[in-house]
Amino acid sequence: MCLFCKIAANTIPVTRLYEDDQVLAFPDINPQAATHILIIPKQHLQSLAHTTAETAPLLGHLLATAAKIAQQQGLANGYRTVINTGPDGGQTVDHLHLHLLGGRHMGWPPG
Ligand code: 5GP
Ligand code: ZN
Repeated sequence: MCLFCKIAANTIPVTRLYEDDQVLAFPDINPQAATHILIIPKQHLQSLAHTTAETAPLLGHLLATAAKIAQQQGLANGYRTVINTGPDGGQTVDHLHLHLLGGRHMGWPPG
């Protein structure tokens, strides 16, 4: 089982900031901003590049969940959502996850 599958299954405990039957949100272990939350599908999807017609609606739900959590976290001044994909994208955990970053101004372009 991959790291984030273990977190989803509660084999590795985390602070569960939000969850429903499809997705789970928890703080990043190495935060890059005052707010840095990871939102994952509970089902194992390797990366955004592995999206299919079946999993596409789940990705919409993942994004909508990010917006809901950002509102709950009080990120009224804005925030950054990031999905790193593959080696060039900087993906280090091969279970699709969305980063929600806020609480400081984000630069552009990203590194
Ligand atoms: P990626 O580089 O794949 O887009 O992001 C992986 C993220 O997972 C990193 O920001 C890293 O800090 C985070 N991470 C890695 N291992 C753990 C862990 O065991 N617990 C939590 N909460 N975050 C983790
Ligand atoms: Zn997994």
